[in-house]
Amino acid sequence: MTIGLRVEGKLIARAYSIVSTNDSEQLEFLSIHVPDGPLTSRLAHVREGDGVWVNSKATGSLTLNYVKPGRNLYLMATGTGLAPFICLIRSPDTFKAFERVILIHTVRTVHELAYRPEIESLANERLIYVPSVTREAFPVNQRCSDLFKSGDLFTMHGLPKADPELDRVMICGNPDMNRDMSKYLEAQGWTMTNHRGVGNFTVEKAFVLHHE
Ligand SMILES: Cc1cc2nc3c(=O)[nH]c(=O)nc-3n(C[C@H](O)[C@H](O)[C@H](O)COP(=O)(O)OP(=O)(O)OC[C@H]3O[C@@H](n4cnc5c(N)ncnc54)[C@H](O)[C@@H]3O)c2cc1C
Repeated sequence: MTIGLRVEGKLIARAYSIVSTNDSEQLEFLSIHVPDGPLTSRLAHVREGDGVWVNSKATGSLTLNYVKPGRNLYLMATGTGLAPFICLIRSPDTFKAFERVILIHTVRTVHELAYRPEIESLANERLIYVPSVTREAFPVNQRCSDLFKSGDLFTMHGLPKADPELDRVMICGNPDMNRDMSKYLEAQGWTMTNHRGVGNFTVEKAFVLHHE
């Protein structure tokens, strides 16, 4: 969905993922703060009672319709790419469609592990939380894509190796992670959901690089 602010009559709007579930009374977002970013440099100063422009059309490829039901659902996020996955782990429908959900969130600093207390409180034998931090001391320092590719993810948590017949993967991260994981999965026989049909993995950009 798109959110924005009007600055001197001109709308500055950007794509955002929705954190809150469909049945929630409030719309919740998780935002980066880019100090010189046209939107977020201003959004950082928004206070309770201030207005924010929101469009009513929601799109995106990280909902349950974008993968077939299965055994284990792997949710792989970097940074604010976590947002759509919080929505999914809050929703009972996710746990109706999958036996187990494994949420892997990679960030640079511990401070960026957004929603950590909530995820930890929801974690149980059907929701496995794997935070990883690449630039600070932390129990897990590998990137989510490396954890998956090396197989360490599965051995660490006593999981069967991910199988395209049984398991599903959703990816929401920086352009490099998206590209790297998509290439790897396709080489391993996984199929990406696209206009031709529902596959066993799906990808969404967490942000756009200006030079892309
Ligand atoms: C499909 C989609 C979903 C998105 N969902 C979210 C979301 O849920 N939360 C969110 O914070 N942003 C999200 N974004 C990014 C968002 O649209 C804006 O780019 C962001 O709000 C910054 O806006 P800006 O105008 O301040 O800076 P911009 O000029 O838009 O961005 C400046 C630069 O900052 C970097 N950047 C931008 N956003 C991020 C980010 N989230 N993480 C790391 N680096 C970033 C990029 O290098 C970018 O070129 C999403 C983008 C897309 C395409």
